[in-house]
Amino acid sequence: MPNKLTHYIGGRAVAGQAATWDAIYNPALGTAIAEVPLDDSAAVDQAVQTAHDAFPAWAATPILERARIMFRYRDLLVRHRGELQASVTQEHGKIASDAANEVGRGIEVVELAAGAPQLLKGELLNQVAHGVDVSLSRVPLGVVAGIAPFNFPAMIPLWMIPPALVSGNTMVFKPSERTPLTALLLYELLMQAGLAPGVLNIVHGGSVVVDTLLQHPEVKAVSFVGSQPVAEHVYRTAARHKKRVQALGGAKNFHVVMPDANWDRTLEGLAGSAFGSAGERCLAGSVAVAVKDAGDRLIDAMTRRIRTMRIGDGRDPESEMGPLIRERHRDRVRDYIKLGVAEGARLVYDGREHRVPDSGYFLGPSLFDGVQETMRIAREEIFGPVLSVIRVDTLEEAVELANRSRFGNTATLYTQSGGAARYFRSHVQAGMVGINIGVAAPVAWFPFAGWKDSFYGDLHATGTDAFWFYTERQVVTERWD
Ligand code: NAD
Repeated sequence: MPNKLTHYIGGRAVAGQAATWDAIYNPALGTAIAEVPLDDSAAVDQAVQTAHDAFPAWAATPILERARIMFRYRDLLVRHRGELQASVTQEHGKIASDAANEVGRGIEVVELAAGAPQLLKGELLNQVAHGVDVSLSRVPLGVVAGIAPFNFPAMIPLWMIPPALVSGNTMVFKPSERTPLTALLLYELLMQAGLAPGVLNIVHGGSVVVDTLLQHPEVKAVSFVGSQPVAEHVYRTAARHKKRVQALGGAKNFHVVMPDANWDRTLEGLAGSAFGSAGERCLAGSVAVAVKDAGDRLIDAMTRRIRTMRIGDGRDPESEMGPLIRERHRDRVRDYIKLGVAEGARLVYDGREHRVPDSGYFLGPSLFDGVQETMRIAREEIFGPVLSVIRVDTLEEAVELANRSRFGNTATLYTQSGGAARYFRSHVQAGMVGINIGVAAPVAWFPFAGWKDSFYGDLHATGTDAFWFYTERQVVTERWD
């Protein structure tokens, strides 16, 4: 029988009392590795109460001590890097180099959080009137909640947990019910770094647990990352319950290819973006907009590139792409391929015919040409290894097309022209812009800055935004005669 996961509340393992449980699979093998409780809302109450009780002592812990826990945590994460990467590959399926990048990106956030004493410093203006001084300080909110998606089992928990805790909050964190195992390793290492029990609590579950958190009166803020419809639901519900919210949603990312682009870089960037992590990234390049004669060259080179792509278990160093997360999700991506054909796009390369292992939820890379903006494959997030090519005559047309998308997570331009690059970044409506970069994920010192339906809220994850999100400002005006 697969191992039944427990919650971690107040530093102790707490057995799940759920009516419904779900299996967690190794998607490369299609075998169950553990079971997760889905609807244990009593555990949410217990975890929030525990976090609430732990808050006063943690908020009063000197900021330097909180930051030193982050330093120790960073060292432990580096020491256990291999284990974390293996866990990501086991439960998500992504290949080892992708898993290594993800863990590295997560560690960067801990490095950012270790600098909290500098980031959380306040402001002071003396003598605004005779004998009157004004100061601003940043104070923690109380209990905050973090809710994560399946596709970055290490990095996204690390977007949320270190900035929230180092700012003096206590937290209830809910990992994805499909990839919760890496979050448990992250939790264990943080406890080893010296975190007091009750400051961070892990509750497993699905939508019932999320909704309980969103409505809980003691939860002051909610950080969410997931699909667009759920992000919108989380934003609306949490706001109705008077909480501060940052809700990062889905995406449809456009990569514009100019005829003057450096072809090696373009191919590497675009293939890595569209097919890396089997297309299960919120920054995945999903539509390539080819300007003028870039189209023929792109289709030709990309077909040659993907034909030989090795699909297999992420643990195999030869694999270039791993499986999709679940069978149901693979069926959904296959349905999009059928839909693209039915909509009249030309399926240049069919990933359903690609050689893949027999076990697990593998699907080869697919390439469509002749895609029209109105087609659903050009508008909806597929979240799988499918690249659609749309052809246009000018850069302006390409930018207008990208801007008509309801999403605005990222957009990339491949060119060797500074003028084109400058036009692109000043006109394209996306929060994260790449110039000759396939996955323009900002380093931790900048915000992860989606726009439009890719993000609901004001302050983003990471960068100084994260610290502003997790703190309230207090302004003191005082007179001393
Ligand atoms: P998801 O929306 O299915 O799940 C995300 C979280 O929401 C999970 O913890 C899940 O338990 C919970 N949830 C699911 N359905 C719910 C419901 N009806 N009510 C309340 N909670 C619910 O997302 P996913 O499939 O795990 O992740 C992939 C999605 O996340 C993609 O759309 C991807 O673009 C997006 N994503 C966005 C970013 C970003 O930075 N914008 C980053 C990573 C992933």
